[in-house]
Amino acid sequence: MKPMGPVPPFFSGEEGMLLIGGCGAASLVDEAGDTPLFVYDMGIIQAQVKALRDAMPSALSIHYAVKANPYAPLLERMAKLVDGFDVASGGELARALEAGMDPAHVSFAGPGKRDDELIAAIDNGATINLESEGEARRAIALAEQRGKTPKLAVRVNPDFDLKGSGMRMGGGAKPFGVDADRAADLARWVIGAGADWRGWHIFAGSQALGAEALIETQAATVGLAARLSDAVGVMPPLVNLGGGFGIPYFPGDERLDIRPIGDALAALLDRRQDSLKGSEFAIELGRWLVGESGVYLTRVVDVKKSQGETFVVVDGGLHHQLAASGNFGTVVRRNYPLAVANRFGAAAAGEAVTVVGCLCTPIDRLGDKVALPPVSEGDLIAIFAAGAYGASASPSAFLGHPPALEVLLD
Ligand SMILES: *Cc1c(COP(=O)(O)O)cnc(C)c1O
Repeated sequence: MKPMGPVPPFFSGEEGMLLIGGCGAASLVDEAGDTPLFVYDMGIIQAQVKALRDAMPSALSIHYAVKANPYAPLLERMAKLVDGFDVASGGELARALEAGMDPAHVSFAGPGKRDDELIAAIDNGATINLESEGEARRAIALAEQRGKTPKLAVRVNPDFDLKGSGMRMGGGAKPFGVDADRAADLARWVIGAGADWRGWHIFAGSQALGAEALIETQAATVGLAARLSDAVGVMPPLVNLGGGFGIPYFPGDERLDIRPIGDALAALLDRRQDSLKGSEFAIELGRWLVGESGVYLTRVVDVKKSQGETFVVVDGGLHHQLAASGNFGTVVRRNYPLAVANRFGAAAAGEAVTVVGCLCTPIDRLGDKVALPPVSEGDLIAIFAAGAYGASASPSAFLGHPPALEVLLD
């Protein structure tokens, strides 16, 4: 038997049925009409945003990283809850605008922005977080051709990384941002070319569960922003401090305590260098805001034995929930939190089972030797922590199965 990650604290059962946003999982499937189904509970997202605002300094802006979950109804709600969106493609920019987010509060990071994507950002007045000198040159030339003033920030590849982060995105050679030792030169050039200078974007990593590491990284980030701003001699209107707040997925993971992070950040901003005195500060979070709100519900199609091992075969799989199969940014496969939704809270059977998806590949494993209550055909399996990097981050065309349904509970 292998352990599973912790079920987020927002979920309970009633007469053996998993409740999501107060509704029974089976009735949610009935209403949606089919499985597999992603259910996102807006109540949980609202609670996360509120907890974050309560913990962080009040002047701090909260941005949502759209790539975590771009489901349109969810984006529409997020647009009213947070202070800005961070997008990573022209497609996400379009979705952000459709969701009603003011383009003045949208910033666009990501390597390999094509000319048409830069033009969309320039025409709509979104901020481009420049990833390279070449991108800066193209953005300025394109804006000039169109008679527009581009809003430009420089994304810095920091000379440090976020310790314990699941996905390192700073420190060392990286395709993201401009190395810290060239960032001030680029900013000076951009300002000299007449762009609307927006400041710095410094993102050091993702999925960290250690408050100390996040506090250290924020201190290093503010320090770097101050050094760069001193070198440029211009106050940055905005300093985007990145994010990196993680959520528990695996056995032993614990929920991040954000209060000490907020306290440390408040103190850090209070004593910030003169070169940043008039700057606005933002953090950008994806999974921490929405990850725990999502449950992936998939129906058991078959229960079979092979050489003494029991396999529970479901109608979903890695084509919707790649991360739960261990094939999205993890090195060692470990179990996500799983449950039998229609036997929620029931005692586990003596024998561990392996939950596999319906794809004809050995990597489609959603739960490896997990302890579940007795499972039969027709039961509903719930996979938790499915609100971020699920439907939109999985290879849904692989093997020709239909896409998952999605529903947002208000
Ligand atoms: C992916 C990404 C995020 C969001 O990361 P989470 O782990 O979902 O919070 C934020 N900023 C940038 C630049 C990103 O690439």
